Amino acid sequence: MLPTSRAQISGTATARALAFLARRATAAARVASRSLLDTVYPPLCPGCDTAWLLPRPGETQRLPLCRNCLSLLSALEKPFCNTCGQAFDGPPGMDDFRCSNCERRRLHFDFAIAPFRSDGLLRDLIHQFKFARRSTLRLPLGRLLAAGLHDPRFEGEDWIMVPVPIHRRRQRQRTFNQARELAAICSQYSGLPVIEALVRTRHTPPQSRLNRNQRLANLADAIHPHPGRAPKVRGRAVLLIDDVFTTGATGDICAKVLRTRCAARRVAVLTLARG
Ligand SMILES: [Zn+2]
Ligand SMILES: [Zn+2]
Repeated sequence: MLPTSRAQISGTATARALAFLARRATAAARVASRSLLDTVYPPLCPGCDTAWLLPRPGETQRLPLCRNCLSLLSALEKPFCNTCGQAFDGPPGMDDFRCSNCERRRLHFDFAIAPFRSDGLLRDLIHQFKFARRSTLRLPLGRLLAAGLHDPRFEGEDWIMVPVPIHRRRQRQRTFNQARELAAICSQYSGLPVIEALVRTRHTPPQSRLNRNQRLANLADAIHPHPGRAPKVRGRAVLLIDDVFTTGATGDICAKVLRTRCAARRVAVLTLARG
């Protein structure tokens, strides 16, 4: 199948992000990806379940998806809003832009970034991961998340990652917190530590059908510092981790708690995809 022109552009951006990942991969991650079992039984691509994920000569690690599936992902490239990451039409080199939504609001995070748009294959994979409990997708999706660190705004800081918390009742249903799983894999490839500094103390209805104001009301008083771990965040630059950024309400509430109650010095939001 020939990729469309948009997919080719996206594929190029994805390839750049993955090359960045390969440079940042820790020794442990490289060893893990080249286990003897993998050499004898190479894994199938989790995107199409047909192509084998074979490392090519000279490559130190496998790609998270086969090249065809990677070409189907929509990389989120500039121009986008410097605050919330919303893409907009404009010349490719355009920089320093803030969208009208962000102009109107007082947001508690410095900026939000996602390496990909939430559409097509990636949206399907995130749904399978979260709602169909296909937990093995943590590996490819966590690596794709780490591709979002390929942004100059992350340079010059010792970031720590804090996953967006879910309530223990939802965790029982889902069996895992998707943000925590993605952060753990991202940590292997980036070397950034993960601290679960936030807890969700109130079970809230699912956010997906709510608008931004409803989401904010839904989350009010639901997110709190973890008493034992929050002190580790004091004075630090925090990268809040989640799977999808939609209205920014969850990121904003978590960033507010991190700044005002945990004394984080900076907060940025990194998600795998932007809705
Ligand atoms: Zn594939
Ligand atoms: Zn914006």
